[in-house]
Amino acid sequence: VPERVEAAPEEGDAGAEVKISNRDRVIFPESGETKGMLADWYAQMAPLMLPFVGSRPVSLVRCPQGRGKKCFFQKHDSGSFGDHVRQVPIAEKDGHAEDYIYVEDAAGLLTCVQMGTIEFHTWGARVDDVEAPDRMIFDLDPDEGLGWDEVRRAARHLHDRLADIGLASFAMLSGGKGVHVVVPLMPGHSWEAHKDFARRFAEALSMAEPDRFIATMSKAKRVGKIFIDYLRNQRGATAVTPYSARARAGASVALPIAWGEFHQFDSAHPYSIRDAETLLRRAKGKGLAGWGFASQTLPDL
Ligand code: ATP
Ligand code: MN
Ligand code: MN
Repeated sequence: VPERVEAAPEEGDAGAEVKISNRDRVIFPESGETKGMLADWYAQMAPLMLPFVGSRPVSLVRCPQGRGKKCFFQKHDSGSFGDHVRQVPIAEKDGHAEDYIYVEDAAGLLTCVQMGTIEFHTWGARVDDVEAPDRMIFDLDPDEGLGWDEVRRAARHLHDRLADIGLASFAMLSGGKGVHVVVPLMPGHSWEAHKDFARRFAEALSMAEPDRFIATMSKAKRVGKIFIDYLRNQRGATAVTPYSARARAGASVALPIAWGEFHQFDSAHPYSIRDAETLLRRAKGKGLAGWGFASQTLPDL
């Protein structure tokens, strides 16, 4: 059994050494949250986030002047992040390597926030072997107008079909419109195998219930359905990390939930970065123990 160590929670207030400038700058104009509040959110949530965001190639959604102003997706460092944000060389399609960024601690997260980051997205592989994916994600994207009940039922359906083939899965409200169904896996298959498995799984669901599910990108064919976006599982793709803030109105956050909790929520964005205390308390509850961890491998299908 390969060693799968959870990132150790930081001793003390490890992010404190990172200086956050312009704490009063409003990042979320609709609801008033500032850069300081965003930094406090990440400092408080770092122990919960690091097992998922740490030591994986990370892409940042940076909005230095706040959401609504110019934002950009960043996966390489131009050298401006300093020591707490690390680099891992990864081969591009043409074979030459590019440095991708990753963090390992609260100071790394906070350095990114200082640089205007709102969202953290990670690869489904760790920096020690980026060619060995250890997580599969089905990103459920409901067509506009579909009710929350449909989304909830769809997530549950994926959970059950995954359980049928022996796979434990975990639900995360994206903080936006949909749900991510997360399947932790022991490394051992290639990206190609992962993507192929995810594609076949998503296609099987949409073929069984074509009125409910669609597994192809086509916007036109999506009307009234849930798009099962399996392309999060190809090499280089990312998905938003648990407890990341979202660059959306209301400063919502990506929220891991227990399967039995779905009925408590009526949207994919029930909490915001103002709710750190509540969510830290919540995370200690029994229902979330072990969220996102399972020792399992892809079955031969
Ligand atoms: P929602 O529930 O509203 O769909 P989401 O986080 O699932 O929220 P998607 O638009 O479905 O948002 O995107 C899924 C994932 O694709 C994101 O979490 C992100 O990691 C990745 N992604 C989105 N936009 C980009 C982009 N511009 N470049 C690279 N990856 C992206
Ligand atoms: Mn989505
Ligand atoms: Mn998507």
